[in-house]
Amino acid sequence: MRTRQGKSVYKGIAIGKILIHRNGQQVIKRRHIDDTEAEIRRFQEAREKALKQLGELYDKALAEVGEANAAIFEVHQMMLEDLDYEESILNIIKNQELNAEYAVASTGENFSEMFAAMDDDYMRGRAADVKDVSERLVRILTGVGDSKMASGEPVIIVADDLAPSETIQLDKSKVLAFVTRHGSVNSHTAILARMMNIPALIGVDYEEDWDGALAVVDGSQGMIYVEPTKEVLDEKRAALEEQKKKEQLLQKLKGEENITLDGRKINIYANIGNVSDLGAVLQNDAGGIGLFRSEFLYLERSTYPTEEEQFLVYKRVAETMGGRKVIIRTLDIGADKQADYFNIEHEENPAMGYRAIRICLDRVDIFKTQLRALYRASMFGNLSIMFPMIISVEEVKRIKEIVEEVKEELRRDQVPHKEDVEIGIMIETPAAVMVSDQLAQEVDFFSVGTNDLTQYTLAIDRQNPKLDNLYVPDHPAIMRMLKIIADNGHKGGCWVGICGELAANLDLTEQFLKMGYDELSVSPTFVLPLRQKVRESRAYGE
Ligand code: PEP
Ligand code: MG
Repeated sequence: MRTRQGKSVYKGIAIGKILIHRNGQQVIKRRHIDDTEAEIRRFQEAREKALKQLGELYDKALAEVGEANAAIFEVHQMMLEDLDYEESILNIIKNQELNAEYAVASTGENFSEMFAAMDDDYMRGRAADVKDVSERLVRILTGVGDSKMASGEPVIIVADDLAPSETIQLDKSKVLAFVTRHGSVNSHTAILARMMNIPALIGVDYEEDWDGALAVVDGSQGMIYVEPTKEVLDEKRAALEEQKKKEQLLQKLKGEENITLDGRKINIYANIGNVSDLGAVLQNDAGGIGLFRSEFLYLERSTYPTEEEQFLVYKRVAETMGGRKVIIRTLDIGADKQADYFNIEHEENPAMGYRAIRICLDRVDIFKTQLRALYRASMFGNLSIMFPMIISVEEVKRIKEIVEEVKEELRRDQVPHKEDVEIGIMIETPAAVMVSDQLAQEVDFFSVGTNDLTQYTLAIDRQNPKLDNLYVPDHPAIMRMLKIIADNGHKGGCWVGICGELAANLDLTEQFLKMGYDELSVSPTFVLPLRQKVRESRAYGE
């Protein structure tokens, strides 16, 4: 047995085989080949396999997210069959007598650079696609990658780090736990692990030969046991049983009200990043969606999602939730959530840089496309729109002007939409806290993003693992701010909620209730434990 101590990101126990997940940037060795004909066959077989995989992905996407979103896999298939692409690979194998993976990787790079240099936006967007397709081929040729995931056995994913865009693409039903070498407790990957209700560790110095080994991840201890002894395995299996029983007990709270001992009802909503999280939202009986991180829609692809594609996703979320509230946050890209095709220049300090609403107010075409999709989708349920990273009243006024322009365009084009969609903002900068009295005059609700509010208030980069000890989301400064926000919001006629991770801290629930918070939005798996806590708490008195 080998054990490693890491830092826990989410509790729980998982038992299963390890799959070392290597991201796209593999080091490809350049090898001389004698039998070039055999090497060409190897390439052709790999291409057939890739085409088949893409066909399967297309079918899956079609069923889950509709035709418009699935189309990207067809584009990838077309690229694989492109004659210029093929010719370049065959030339390298035949004329330079080099191995197929090298030929694919260098062709992928050349084509990607060529696309990136083009004037046309659409073609520039293809740069990431050709890279993606080439990486898929290389994974098949080297046998390194997610083949075991596809074979159906759920695994413990061990990796150096996982970008949010990578995590979102993993088949969640096949992941038992995440264990990474890098990453911070507050990264978006950590948030995703919480959403998926699976144990996750960071800071684990793993070894390459763990691949395929049986392991136990104990999220409460922050430990991973590789090839565990019988004693450890028995003990953890019993704990896993215990965990399952507890979860069943919580299920009894389904359908019950979120009402305190002294009779105050509050809303408990769920945070999601994708339509595939909707199942967990319904299973855990959330009263609505308090935060739909719409940027994941942009992250999981290599070109801008069109209005129609977005509309279909928002409509699906609204329809699935019936009359329950669905708060969709507009694009919050930038900082740790990067998409190549946005072509954002390198920044020294991206968390304080060109991100979220700053991009939307600068590149209004992107913003308007999303707003049009949202207003159209508003016809299909109870939708609200929320804007991230606000620092001033002027920003909100400008947003409202753009919203009016969008509505005017929809009216002019006779496109059905609701006129009175509720509009809110995230309070996640100290500036927004300090002018929250004025901001409350402009909007219908506030939702506090404690993840960023902590980062900006304490001057702690939430992505920096070295500072995890100093990242204290219930710092007295934050708690005082929360009170100010609730008071100013209410005075200005807004309802107030919290959608940052702090909302799930059950030790603080009673304090939030006493501050007057009307809504708490948490990962779907926290909904029922929070309901239990609310039902044991008091909302009035000291
Ligand atoms: C937050 O900052 O608290 C928040 C909810 O937004 P995100 O974590 O997506 O930045
Ligand atoms: Mg935020």
